[in-house]
Amino acid sequence: MTTSDTRHTHTTLISIVAPFYNEAEGIDYFRDAILAVVEGIADAAFEIVCVDDGSKDSTLQQLIALSTSDPRFRVLELTRNFGKEAALTAGIDFARGDAVIPIDSDLQDPPELIPVLIEEWRKGAEVVLARRADRGTDSFLKRKSAEMFYSFHNRLSSVKIPQNVGDFRLMDRVAVDALKSLPERQRFMKGLFAWIGYKTVVVDYVRKPRAAGETKFSGWKLWNFALEGITSFSTAPLRVWTYIGGLGALLTVTYAIAIILRTLIHGVDVPGYASLLVAVLFFGSLQLISVGLLGEYIGRIYLETKQRPTYLIRREYGAVDES
Ligand code: UDP
Ligand code: MG
Repeated sequence: MTTSDTRHTHTTLISIVAPFYNEAEGIDYFRDAILAVVEGIADAAFEIVCVDDGSKDSTLQQLIALSTSDPRFRVLELTRNFGKEAALTAGIDFARGDAVIPIDSDLQDPPELIPVLIEEWRKGAEVVLARRADRGTDSFLKRKSAEMFYSFHNRLSSVKIPQNVGDFRLMDRVAVDALKSLPERQRFMKGLFAWIGYKTVVVDYVRKPRAAGETKFSGWKLWNFALEGITSFSTAPLRVWTYIGGLGALLTVTYAIAIILRTLIHGVDVPGYASLLVAVLFFGSLQLISVGLLGEYIGRIYLETKQRPTYLIRREYGAVDES
């Protein structure tokens, strides 16, 4: 193992990475909770990489103040709101630790679990997953739809995303470097995390309600997120149309033969408008759906070929490299 030598020494650096989008009300709770944990771990140094994802409230000002008073807090200011996936990517790219722990800034991922993650890492795991033992704090609808998404996704895609595991986890430097080497710009982190593999250990926890503020993910945003996940990691939705088309063609030929035979035996008859109309409309909509699906993938190809960066950084605040 490449980094096991740094896991037990005083020079071990652990990076905690947290994305912030309009979290001004929660920053004090976040600081207190993180510091309580960090101070309890004597045999490692910490840096807390806070990514401001284009917040419109006082989040950035508060984060800057925090990093001025405590150099362990580093702040990355993105030029606008790039979304959580991009903010997390930025934070992970800038993290310098031997291990990196992404965590939600609203404290829904319990910082108290961090010592447990670190302990599993020191025992040799390269990735330590934090799994929600129950999702009681999420609404029934969110729970059900998440469950449906995971089972649908995992049935279609060869990369299986573990159920009830979010971005909260610990990754060893080797896993982080592997993640950083993946070239795609549209980053569906849950999928990428699963794709890299590595020796993984799972730790259970209970998910709490937000410390302050409210969720940034509406139903519509989650739906698009799910589509993104599926189209990033599976081409089954593209392939299925070949089979549906083939089946349709087979049925149509059978039907055509039946009509020819009937016409030969009984002569021409006029009725049949309704069934014609149904068939035309049905296949018309099938075509629209499949064109839409193609569009979904072509759109992704288009976005990737532009090779635009995942995020842009306006400024970095806090600890300048002393190593
Ligand atoms: N977040 C972000 N950019 C966004 C939306 C959210 O950086 O565009 C951050 C947010 O500040 C929080 C985390 O991502 O730390 C999770 O967001 P949220 O709590 O709204 O999602 P939920 O927990 O409801 O799924
Ligand atoms: Mg949350």
